[in-house]
Amino acid sequence: MDGPSGSGKSSASRGVARALGLRYLDTGAMYRAVTWWMLTHEVDLADPAAIAARAGEPRLEMSTDPDAPGVRLDGEPADGPIRSAEVTRAVSAVSAVPEVRQRLVALQRELIGAGGIVVEGRDIGTVVAPDAPVKVYLTASEEARATRRNAELTGSTVAAQRVELARRDTLDSTRKTDPLAMAADAVELDTTPMTLDEVIAEVLRLVKERG
Ligand code: C5P
Repeated sequence: MDGPSGSGKSSASRGVARALGLRYLDTGAMYRAVTWWMLTHEVDLADPAAIAARAGEPRLEMSTDPDAPGVRLDGEPADGPIRSAEVTRAVSAVSAVPEVRQRLVALQRELIGAGGIVVEGRDIGTVVAPDAPVKVYLTASEEARATRRNAELTGSTVAAQRVELARRDTLDSTRKTDPLAMAADAVELDTTPMTLDEVIAEVLRLVKERG
């Protein structure tokens, strides 16, 4: 399941995994955890070579239980800090570094193993799992995405979220290595007018049809 920020991927992926008794992997959390590690180790995020030099160091452990997803970083739970505004602002610079992507894509493929998992991200259908039996690309209008993201946060406004989402989407879709993109064989789902339950039902229908 790929798509831009705020398209509803996380809630939909978890819901689908729960409904089908599958595992769930949030690859965005992995890029966020590496970003948090770089920030706490005072790596200069304006210097891709400095990020690349330390890309092999953070130790990540992912829970793939859709009822208790989470990430541990060097043995400590990191689910709080990886959602901070500081990490959200910095993550696209870290995720654009090829050495970071190489390492995380390898880790993601290990976790996917023989399948039976719903994986959400930006490059899952194109790079990480090109043979996935079902590929969904979620979109939604900028307004809908900003409104949803704003509802999850405190002390924010829809207008501020709109600016932040647009900035991150531009960075994520214009980077050289594995940019945000829809796979040629993915089904595009515009979730703007849909409720979460409708999105989940539609994905379950696609799985039944194609999986
Ligand atoms: O999905 P989420 O908003 O948590 O992702 C955070 C960031 O991680 C994205 O903005 C993007 O830079 C990066 N990412 C990525 N490839 C993925 C998943 C996330 O580059 N498969």
